[in-house]
Amino acid sequence: MFLSELLSSFKDFFLPRFCLSCNHKIKTEKTFVCENCISKIQKTNDELLKYEFTRKFYYRNLIDDFYAPFVFEQDKELQSIIHALKYNKKFLVGKFLGIILADSIKSAKPEWHFDLIIPVPLNRLKKIERNYNQSDYIARGISEVYGIPFSTRALKRIRYTQSQTKLDIHQRQANISGAFKAGKDFTGRNILIVDDVITSGATTEECAKVIKARGALKVYAASIAIAAL
Ligand SMILES: [Zn+2]
Repeated sequence: MFLSELLSSFKDFFLPRFCLSCNHKIKTEKTFVCENCISKIQKTNDELLKYEFTRKFYYRNLIDDFYAPFVFEQDKELQSIIHALKYNKKFLVGKFLGIILADSIKSAKPEWHFDLIIPVPLNRLKKIERNYNQSDYIARGISEVYGIPFSTRALKRIRYTQSQTKLDIHQRQANISGAFKAGKDFTGRNILIVDDVITSGATTEECAKVIKARGALKVYAASIAIAAL
């Protein structure tokens, strides 16, 4: 555990906590977002998930199944939470979101059997900037709920990629192609790839491509939220 992480756990333990979205004081230490704000986050449903799976992952056949409990909307509750996770060093927020994600996967996808959890690796430059990968903490939360290991070394970024925000789907696929390298063999294993928000799905698919090339049987993808491209 990093020292800064340890300090922030102490702070979280002793100081009153405020909702990351509306800033109201929260009574329990176990959460970062008040119940009112959580209830306002737009949820996905079967129909939307099916539609998004077809749009993002069906044609290349690299992701076997996909799940996200929430829809990412600009300037809404979830954006402030994910923003806090990315930019304000809220390590524990990541784990908190990971636990929510794991619980929802358990009830929505009981047929998923995976034996390793892999967070999507961050650009090295971004990692230097932020000092941590937010998805590592989400993976940690899922790992805790399922009792299944996660690995931050099983997949590595091997080259810098430009920001995807202004690119269309084909440009994103080309931009991310060859960006990852497997750090180990996955023969016979089923893998869960984890990201905070999945937009085009190009990054997730590229991870799956590399993992399957090294022998993985099934690759599932899960994120806290899906966003429209
Ligand atoms: Zn709130």
